Amino acid sequence: MAGRSSGGRHDLHLHTVRSDGRLEPEELLVRCARAGLDVIAMTDHDLASPLAAGEYVIHDHAIRLLGGAEVSGVHAGQEFHLLVYFPHDPPPTFRAFCATRCKERVRRYEAGRRALDLPGVPDPDTSARRGERALTRHHLARGLVEAGHATSVSEAFRRFTGDRHGNVPKVSLSLVEAIQVAKSAGGVTSWAHPPAAALRAHLGDLVDAGLDAIEALRPGMSTRERRETRALARRHGVFVTGGSDWHGWKDPELGLFAIDGADLEGFRTALAEAA
Ligand SMILES: [Zn+2]
Ligand SMILES: [Zn+2]
Repeated sequence: MAGRSSGGRHDLHLHTVRSDGRLEPEELLVRCARAGLDVIAMTDHDLASPLAAGEYVIHDHAIRLLGGAEVSGVHAGQEFHLLVYFPHDPPPTFRAFCATRCKERVRRYEAGRRALDLPGVPDPDTSARRGERALTRHHLARGLVEAGHATSVSEAFRRFTGDRHGNVPKVSLSLVEAIQVAKSAGGVTSWAHPPAAALRAHLGDLVDAGLDAIEALRPGMSTRERRETRALARRHGVFVTGGSDWHGWKDPELGLFAIDGADLEGFRTALAEAA
């Protein structure tokens, strides 16, 4: 197809309804194929990919689905996110680790609900309790809207579930441990949407812990930011990844943001080595 590079169009950061995204995994896959994406990863919060990794052909378009997840962890008192990728299905050890993380999410949701002490906010469902679905602040915020305590999810965040309110307990896992678990399961790790100051302060520590990459190609970043982040990655001997962090609530269409495979050389090499 005209304009398509040989490296393929990648989006390595997408969410489904299994965490705080809007679409079922199957529908997300179809929409990504229709949007002309060639390589994608479903990176739900603390949840290994809901669909089998591999190549799918949808409406005559071949699309490769990687194994993936986005794990929350704390470093120097701040919560950060770690993207984890596998060239194949995430191994059972990693799935079990994710299930444990999801069960902590249930406890945090319940603690948040108790702290708010407002009637009508729904119980965590069975699949969340089993560790097959990741509850997030978004779910608590939506529960508050459904129970009539706020008129929109953003209002619920602002009034009840945002960080400053302290209603939802902090994550207990350290980011360093998240990196170590992911690496020992054979995953490729990338620091998701790192804030610039945190990147400067902590990248060295996290690279020492085994971090492979920084998510440096994201929508809304300026050319200068990208250049600086790439330079920082090079200095620390790590590569870059990228993705839209698409959730489907207010995001633009899928495929408008895509990364040329030629810009992901380090990632593709690491992935091939992990195969
Ligand atoms: Zn994130
Ligand atoms: Zn995300």
